Amino acid sequence: MAEAMPARSTMLRPLATVRLATVPVATVRRQVTVPLKFADGYGTTALVTSFEGLADGKEHIALSLGDWQAALRRSAHGGAAPLVRPHSECLTGDVFGSQRCDCGPQLREAVERIAEVGGFLLYLRQEGRGIGLYGKLDAYALQDRGLDTYQANLALGRDEDERDYTVAAQMLRALDADRIALLSNNPDKAEQLAGLGVEITERVKTGVHLSAANAGYLATKALHSAHTLDVPFD
Ligand SMILES: [Zn+2]
Repeated sequence: MAEAMPARSTMLRPLATVRLATVPVATVRRQVTVPLKFADGYGTTALVTSFEGLADGKEHIALSLGDWQAALRRSAHGGAAPLVRPHSECLTGDVFGSQRCDCGPQLREAVERIAEVGGFLLYLRQEGRGIGLYGKLDAYALQDRGLDTYQANLALGRDEDERDYTVAAQMLRALDADRIALLSNNPDKAEQLAGLGVEITERVKTGVHLSAANAGYLATKALHSAHTLDVPFD
């Protein structure tokens, strides 16, 4: 009987394809060279780009790393595409080394791996899966009472993951990089970017940055949203 079926099955996130071909054009506003040095001593040089016309009006930046010009030329001739990581801002993890997540080590790894082969790191100002810094701290408080990272966002009346990669697609187009190798374990990023017209030639997995404090978070992320992490769950 049809009535036996639940009115709403477990909700799948809407596919990004609904937004296909609605990516507004953004342009380069300014490019400046910034030497980088991380806490562990690793250093490289980034060409930092700001933009005009980003869809949400926020100040997202792109870091061009390594020999990104050669990577673009190679890609234009059908060779390996530039390596690209869209990294969502995490003030606590990126700046202060929070052990509640793996964002700091992910960012550090991404910069070096991209610099090795040439490509771009997109630093996206969507903290806490899009709910903002204060929202993320509220979610942490709920997690301390037993909710997982996704349940906590829902309990706050937010979506599990509010990140939107429209600006990433805009930035890539402005950088002439709409054919990319995607450095990410997150299938949602790949799905959204493909739906926004970015050609993903390859998905490259990032490493697993496991610590006692983030093990539960990483396991939840992997089990819940099909992140391709090889985490030993127990
Ligand atoms: Zn984080």
